[in-house]
Amino acid sequence: MSATQGETHEFRAEIRKLLDIITHSIYTNREIFLRELVSNASDALDKLRFETSRGTAIANPDTPLEIRITTDKDAGKLVIADTGCGMTREELVDNLGTIAKSGTEAFMKSVADNKDAASNLIGRFGVGFYSVFMVAGSVTVTSRSYREDAAPARWISDGAGSFAVEEAPADTPRGTTIAIELNDENKEYADPQRVKDVLRKHSNFISFPILVDGEKTNTIPALWRESKFSVTPEQYKEFYQFLTYDNEEPLATIHVSVDAPVQFTALLFIPSKGLGPMAFREALHHGLDLYVRRVMISKEVKELIPEYLGFVRGVVDTEDLPLNISRETLQENLVLRKIQTVIVKQILDKLKNLAKENPEKYAAFFKEHGQALKLGYGDFANREAFADLMRFDSSAIAPDADFTSLDAYVERAKEGQKSIYYLSGPSRAALDLNPHLEIFRAKGLEVLYLYEPVDEFIMDTIGTYKELKLKSAELADHAELDAFEGEAPKTETPELTQEEEGSFDGFLKKIKELLGDHITEVRLSTRLTQSPSCLVSPDDHMTSSMQKIMRLVSKDTSIPKKTLEINRDHALIRNLLSIYRRDAEDPFLSKAVEQLYDSALLLDGYLSDPHQMVARINDLLADASALHAK
Ligand code: ADP
Ligand code: MG
Repeated sequence: MSATQGETHEFRAEIRKLLDIITHSIYTNREIFLRELVSNASDALDKLRFETSRGTAIANPDTPLEIRITTDKDAGKLVIADTGCGMTREELVDNLGTIAKSGTEAFMKSVADNKDAASNLIGRFGVGFYSVFMVAGSVTVTSRSYREDAAPARWISDGAGSFAVEEAPADTPRGTTIAIELNDENKEYADPQRVKDVLRKHSNFISFPILVDGEKTNTIPALWRESKFSVTPEQYKEFYQFLTYDNEEPLATIHVSVDAPVQFTALLFIPSKGLGPMAFREALHHGLDLYVRRVMISKEVKELIPEYLGFVRGVVDTEDLPLNISRETLQENLVLRKIQTVIVKQILDKLKNLAKENPEKYAAFFKEHGQALKLGYGDFANREAFADLMRFDSSAIAPDADFTSLDAYVERAKEGQKSIYYLSGPSRAALDLNPHLEIFRAKGLEVLYLYEPVDEFIMDTIGTYKELKLKSAELADHAELDAFEGEAPKTETPELTQEEEGSFDGFLKKIKELLGDHITEVRLSTRLTQSPSCLVSPDDHMTSSMQKIMRLVSKDTSIPKKTLEINRDHALIRNLLSIYRRDAEDPFLSKAVEQLYDSALLLDGYLSDPHQMVARINDLLADASALHAK
């Protein structure tokens, strides 16, 4: 290739699609293109500063680290130049044309769903550079890499299908210059006042000087290093929005300066809202930004915060790491681990205070982030704080009330109560009908309602709370329950006659015979008041939902064998007893018993094939309706 020869490249297919969306469907909030370009310039300067600090030889070492913006109102041009790490010719081609960014596809999906949100989504999805084509007719990127021997290069495109690369003049200084020919509708961005306003709104916390036509515009670098008494709520909010691109206020702000066991400053935020459909991105990007003595080392450092607090955003700045620490060694770094320990305590404390001082706000927090927080059940060191922060639905609260804490349960517990009871189920409506709860309702004992598989693990790890054992209602000890006055609704069925009493054993044997290997045994229930029957685990130590999880893990799809309990005071059972006494071989009896069993399976969430059951119900209905029709 000769010295001046250029070449033309097609944009990669995904990028072409992305550019098409950016140029043709985003009409609001176009100003954020400036934020994206400035943030790229800042990243490039961070990278250069980092290379310098680890002793890498760089081109033009004396050039100050800054971002220079120049406007030409008459020509409708805007230039953004930085003295950062720059790009080689290959990097220009890769970074600005051929390597699709990880968020691109997800971004396009989100935009397809919600066109109005597109401009807000751009930054969050990291498809930043291309946003320049919202305002540009054509863009020229001229760059020289910090590597001493790199040749400068130039990238030119109008954002349609292709871009050109060519050599740049030999005297091109280190860094990147982006020259934008604004298109007709967007000439306003060549007005220095407009540019300054946008920068103040979106780029005020960039830690390098930004000069517009030679005049410095940004004012507040490294807010986290300021004393917290001198920072205004407005500044915190601005910094939060700068950091996250969130339009809302943060739910809570944590600004701490710690001296022992490690020295660091942290400025952390809990967002008011989860990212909803963008949560996948949150998981991908969880982590805090790490600075060493104000120098950015790495963004999204996962070692600084556990996954279950992944919704927390912010920065950490420490004196206790060398500036030249490599990103690769962050993983086993002891200093980071110590910082994490302190940070976790700070966040949990903050949440505990919030829960105490502003329960409604805490409830809102839990709704948004509880799902993530619950995964902290594995954090044994903070088990106590964790238990205090959990919230559950409960039989003792109104259907639409905020979930309850274990503490509030303990407050409501009956005199002499030794356990906190809970039961898993798919929904409140389902649990309200669960036969296992009848005895608890009768005795006025509160039961927590658990809806997610993780909840049972939480109960297992918490184990005991304020001396009350956490116990599944399914596995409740009946001797323990007997201690409480039961105002169980009186059964309307008459006392069994002596003859009936005499045939009850045979009746139970018949049921076992009919169900055969499906169950371990049949016995009379002491827990049922409203339902005719239910299934209980014979080895009273694992709840049915826990078993379900275990079986899922071991890919066991068989139906577990349980004990069938019969409520002898239920009208249905009495009727079946009469049928049995008249004719033990009556086909109606076997159909009804099979149905009892299937109904119990269904309630426990085990029934896998409803067809047989529906056919049987229709049979039974035919029999019953025949009686009614007479
Ligand atoms: P992101 O910033 O999330 O990586 P962008 O689309 O904003 O995505 O930028 C794409 C890539 O182009 C960057 O990752 C970087 O490698 C490169 N780049 C963009 N602007 C600059 C710049 N001013 N200096 C050096 N590299 C840059
Ligand atoms: Mg970017």
